[in-house]
Amino acid sequence: SGASDEAPGSSRRVLVLSGPTAVGKTTVMRRLRAEHPELAIAPSVTTRSIRAGEVDGSPYFFVDDSTFDEKIRRGEFLEWAVVHQKAKYGTPRAAVEEALDAGKPVLIEVDLQGARQVRESMPEAFFVFLAPPSWDELVRRLVGRGTETEEERERRLATAREELAAESEFDTTLVNTDIGTVCQDLVALMGSSPSPARR
Ligand code: 5GP
Repeated sequence: SGASDEAPGSSRRVLVLSGPTAVGKTTVMRRLRAEHPELAIAPSVTTRSIRAGEVDGSPYFFVDDSTFDEKIRRGEFLEWAVVHQKAKYGTPRAAVEEALDAGKPVLIEVDLQGARQVRESMPEAFFVFLAPPSWDELVRRLVGRGTETEEERERRLATAREELAAESEFDTTLVNTDIGTVCQDLVALMGSSPSPARR
């Protein structure tokens, strides 16, 4: 193939993982961080409060609202969004650029609003939608983890319905039936040229 060909994804490989609330994105990311230290996974910045068992810096840097807004003003975020009408979350540009400069493909996890922003600013990224095996299973997982109030749950389910409808905006879908399989598939997608068939 010609050296001047614009091979999509060969030089700037960014994999964006998104999907509805409670589908298991966080669990997938935790597993990948633990089992695949060779992967570049960008940490996020958030204004939500730190939970028991969490440490600052992985997967989130915890900041207050004015610090977050200052970062927005300085253009430090590749994308940012208010998630579940509660807290701001953003992906720092620097972490992504550093990984790419080091020649590593980089994985970022964002909500749907974030995915749409990355689509705008980095159309060459590869977009992966994590889908639940079924709607009933998604509801079961959300209720089962018991971390939200009834009202909060209703709101998240409404958001999840909208988010599920956005699947066609993505380059590929992985169904989260088995977390090990999802992780393997993501590792494979990061190891190979992420946009083989796009024209
Ligand atoms: P949690 O606070 O439960 O860890 O995450 C809540 C939501 O924030 C998840 O849906 C997750 O996808 C989203 N999220 C985490 N990091 C980012 C980020 O950097 N940008 C955006 N837009 N969403 C994020």
